Amino acid sequence: MIKKGLQKLTVFFVAFLLVFSAMMVNQKSEVYAASDSTIIEGRFQFVVDSNKIIKFAREFNDKGELVRVYEYFPNTKYGQDHGKKIKFEFEIYPNAAIKFSRERNTKQELIAVYEYHEPSYYGDGHGSRIKFKFNTYSNGFIKNAIAYNLKGEITQAYEYHDAWYGDGHGSKIKFRFELYPNAAIKHAVGYDKNQNAVRLYEYLEPSYYGDGHGSRIKSITDLTPSGNKYVYPVANRHAPITCGIGCYSGHTGIDLGVSRGTKVFNIAEGIVRRIQASCPTEGYRGSGCGNRFGNHVVVEVMKDGKRYFVYYGHLSQNSIKVSVGQKVSTNTLLGLSGNSGDSDGPHLHVEVRLNDVKATSVGSTIDFRRLFGL
Ligand SMILES: [Zn+2]
Repeated sequence: MIKKGLQKLTVFFVAFLLVFSAMMVNQKSEVYAASDSTIIEGRFQFVVDSNKIIKFAREFNDKGELVRVYEYFPNTKYGQDHGKKIKFEFEIYPNAAIKFSRERNTKQELIAVYEYHEPSYYGDGHGSRIKFKFNTYSNGFIKNAIAYNLKGEITQAYEYHDAWYGDGHGSKIKFRFELYPNAAIKHAVGYDKNQNAVRLYEYLEPSYYGDGHGSRIKSITDLTPSGNKYVYPVANRHAPITCGIGCYSGHTGIDLGVSRGTKVFNIAEGIVRRIQASCPTEGYRGSGCGNRFGNHVVVEVMKDGKRYFVYYGHLSQNSIKVSVGQKVSTNTLLGLSGNSGDSDGPHLHVEVRLNDVKATSVGSTIDFRRLFGL
């Protein structure tokens, strides 16, 4: 796995800082100096300083709408092969919201594609709003992608089954690395070509993404012992985590922020062991209804010879679709989310207990995403 020649972590960070600073510098050039002028050349407008050094250029379509903005390698002078010195090309909507941008090297080969948190406008701090950086080969094949949050911290890295940027790459993920902001690896999940999670990789600590991580694998777990894949309990894999493990003392589950009535799916094949269905949909902080879980379903799952109990809590009243003793498959609809029991806002609480014993510390708490490679 992970055999591709990835930049060393330090190189990656330096590269990112360079990109970032280049963008910030060019962003300032949106502020015109008194000596700046605009050169019109067909559908292009070049904004240049008094030495004709290009700050940036705009391209318009036949309707006069802005379609692209170009940034250049430093000290590119208008009229001196500037067409061969483009560093960034921003594809934008007529309202200046950014679709994506491309980065080229001095040979004008594609090296990266960037996507942005929405909405991002050209000139509006876009350098700090990068969501994905796809590192590419010059033919557009993706080497890997790095995801960032709104603080500019790294959150994930992706590698692909042979994919070109723009060519259904979202459905061609081969590996997903969950990362800490310092790029240390939490774990990685391998996917087959149908995007089923098939393997969980754990690493020796510390292992950094890009830092020889392929040789630092501690264990590989097959995620499909019974032939069934595991599924995320709600359709939106990106639902915010409103309270994670240990977010307050004794919180041994993960809260997914989903609105009332969201379908809750069974993560893994198992048997329904307990149900509570009659708590009012609207609970309150301190309510003991349903053992504080409000309406809930508990499913026993066997995995690697161990007995896990998966709790799905705070469901809507009388929304539960399964019964005690029922064998449930992966992806079976269990019920609808809500705000019942000890809860002060709609969410789904997902908790895993080994042998049905509540974890006694944050360190011994089981993260369902990690257990099932989701
Ligand atoms: Zn919770």
